[in-house]
Amino acid sequence: MICSRTVFRCFKALERLGDRITGAAGPYFVAFAIALIGLGTVCFFDVIMPSLRYPLLSGPVCVLIAANLWTHYYYVVTVAPGFADEPPRQEQQSILWAKKRVSGTAAKWTEPLVITRAAVTKCRRCGQQKPERTHHCRICNRCVLKYDHHWVNQCVGLHNERHFVLFMAYLVIACTSVVITGVPHILRALGAGDYYEPNWPHHVPQISFILIYILSVVMALAVGVMCAFHLWGAANGETTVEGHDHDIYRKVAKGRGETFVNSYDLGKRRNLELFFNIGEGGYPLYTLLLPLRINPYTDGRSWARRRGCEDAGHGGVRRGEELTDEDDDGEEV
Ligand SMILES: [Zn+2]
Ligand SMILES: [Zn+2]
Repeated sequence: MICSRTVFRCFKALERLGDRITGAAGPYFVAFAIALIGLGTVCFFDVIMPSLRYPLLSGPVCVLIAANLWTHYYYVVTVAPGFADEPPRQEQQSILWAKKRVSGTAAKWTEPLVITRAAVTKCRRCGQQKPERTHHCRICNRCVLKYDHHWVNQCVGLHNERHFVLFMAYLVIACTSVVITGVPHILRALGAGDYYEPNWPHHVPQISFILIYILSVVMALAVGVMCAFHLWGAANGETTVEGHDHDIYRKVAKGRGETFVNSYDLGKRRNLELFFNIGEGGYPLYTLLLPLRINPYTDGRSWARRRGCEDAGHGGVRRGEELTDEDDDGEEV
């Protein structure tokens, strides 16, 4: 027993050290990513862009992809995820914010949305009132609304999760574009076969372009998988943390011969509409294509729920079985 407790304490100490390193290294990761995305953007517009056909069409599309990529990255590292100890955020009116639908033009849903107040518990780490779907981040040491995970320099949560997913999506689009349209240029840079030319006719050095091309192949695949994973979670109405919790609930419910039902799951289409806030009462679909800010559909203190789960929580989960941050922390609370 003593041995297993010592091992547990060692793991916890290592985990905390990892948290501290992640927290301290955040700004360096941000700077490193800016340098790489910057080099990628320069490579694309210097080497590939001038050779594209239909410049009047491809030019604006490429600029729009780059604008979305940079803006969503900026927002995901600067827009705070939303904390349990701050008042609900108000929508703002500026050129950076999308305009809401004019009522009457919105697509009508077959059933009206049921939004009910979140159950509130108290965080044992920071003492804050914690609405449902809020989790305590050990790196930020605050309770984050609709906490997904800690990323780079801050958490991904209610107010920046949309920017996080859109940043990944535009990064995948940008990297895939570099990989596909950059084929003749990478062959020339490598001096392959008929593409051999004694002089490299661009501003960026050959070696930079080769590096960016290889990185684009890797990122398109790796971030593509991550983006698909997050979109799948959003389509199922669950965050990364909830995805893990729901797997456990599913097993417990199955052991009793019951079925677990996620009360935030309103069907894949509606879940995605709510995630991007483009459903009824939300914003138009084109907000996915423009680098604009929008508010989430909720302030994080109430949630849309599926019918039959308005007050009772998830189906197949009994009172007292809900997992908390403390379960994750074990006896070290
Ligand atoms: Zn807390
Ligand atoms: Zn955090």
